[in-house]
Order: sequence, then structure tokens, then C-alpha cells
Amino acid sequence: MKRLFRRGSPAPASTPGPDPCPELAAAAGHDPQPRTPGQCEDCAALGEQVWAHLRMCLECGRVSCCDSSPHQHATAHFHATGHPVMRSHEPGESWRWCYVHSTLG
Ligand SMILES: [Zn+2]
Ligand SMILES: [Zn+2]
Ligand SMILES: [Zn+2]
Repeated sequence: MKRLFRRGSPAPASTPGPDPCPELAAAAGHDPQPRTPGQCEDCAALGEQVWAHLRMCLECGRVSCCDSSPHQHATAHFHATGHPVMRSHEPGESWRWCYVHSTLG
């Protein structure tokens, strides 16, 4: 009598925490030096000194202002370059954000 059931591939060991974002995973080792520490590069070019919070691109180190700022340069940088992951450039904050998946990592 043949065995009808073969367990060719046992269920994979469950990995803790779903992580569907390859951009955040790829950015894990990136920590470039900020190009303009403490200020938005694009705002500075415009002569603006007003922004809410700063983000830094983990691809190129460009510091940009967040979506709560008048010019939203961080999002603009993503659209212009396709660089997907920014991290907070605020003191004491180290979270990262993927613009492709709107995922915090
Ligand atoms: Zn992603
Ligand atoms: Zn800006
Ligand atoms: Zn960038």
C-alpha cells in the first residue's frame, strides 16, 4: 500500500513579526552622514528656515523636511529620486519610514 501523504516540506518555522518591506530591510545597514546636519537642504536653498521635523534619506544622506512642514521636501525627494527609506533626523528619534509601503520600521 502506498503512502498517500508525504510531508515534503514541513511548515516553515514562523519568523517573529511580519516584515513585508524589503526597502526597510535593505536600509538596515545604511546610516550615511547627513549632508546638511540640522537643516533641510532644499529649504536652505530657498532661504526658508521653517519646518516641523527633519528626515534623512538613508540612500544619500539628504536631510529634508517632513510632511507637516510647508514644503514637504522629504516626500518630494522620494518622488524625485525613488529613494524609499528615510529616518528621523530629530534628536532622540531613530525610527525609519518606507515611502513605498508607508511602513514604519
Ligand atoms: Zn517598503
Ligand atoms: Zn524643506
Ligand atoms: Zn536620497
